[in-house]
Amino acid sequence: MTAAALYARATAGFEGRVQHATRLLTQAAEQHAGRIVLATSLGAEDMVLADLIARHRLPIELATLDTGHLHAQTRALIPRLETHYGLRVRCVQPEPEATVHFVSQHGALAMRHSVALRKACCQLRKLEPLARLLQGYTAWVTGLRREQSAARELVSFEVTDDHGRSKFSPLADWSWGDVWHYISLHEVPTNPLHDEFYPSIGCEPCTRAVAIGEDPRAGRWWWENETVKECGLHLSPLSAAASAAAGAQSAPASGFVSAQAIAKTKP
Ligand code: SF4
Repeated sequence: MTAAALYARATAGFEGRVQHATRLLTQAAEQHAGRIVLATSLGAEDMVLADLIARHRLPIELATLDTGHLHAQTRALIPRLETHYGLRVRCVQPEPEATVHFVSQHGALAMRHSVALRKACCQLRKLEPLARLLQGYTAWVTGLRREQSAARELVSFEVTDDHGRSKFSPLADWSWGDVWHYISLHEVPTNPLHDEFYPSIGCEPCTRAVAIGEDPRAGRWWWENETVKECGLHLSPLSAAASAAAGAQSAPASGFVSAQAIAKTKP
């Protein structure tokens, strides 16, 4: 059974949320003409945004981070997306010298040795390349949703980031079921790993499938015992505070039911 068949369940007000997301993207594209980019992780939410951008011919560019540790299925999604929508996806990579130096100093699986090394890896493979990806833009679009984790429950539709750019999250109020209902409705291409119980997909060494009842982000950096499981791309003092306030227990994302759990309830 596919992820779309398992998860797609529109919640009340779905059409209104699609209209609102479209309106927000349209206004953002007008306000930041030629200077706005979708920084896509190629996750389910970002594929919905790519579909909205293509469907409404919005002048929003697409770019992604190729960390050097992506799953083959994630890398293969880039040409699939480009062919499906006739859009170009710019790939930004880490500085080769920095990654070679890091691996020679700390090993290929340094991220498993300590939180500090994991964050250092994210810094050189994600944060520094993201800074280059965003150069020259006054606005960017993300697929963040409030339901994704306690650290994201305060996500706004629009904020100003630390560099003065507008950061738009048009799906902030969407549920996981809404995302997959949209994907199912419009036959949006997605990462086949979603069909193997990977709701949240990051780098290969740092992502695993989730089990029954687990938080959707439990498959990210699962060996760490931290409340804020973020690489830093979207962390703000507010979200960090929200996560800390949530306590040591990982808060289940409301409305999310694991694929296995749904499969168990299916006749
Ligand atoms: S997710 Fe893992 S492999 Fe990817 S940049 Fe972060 S620590 Fe490195």
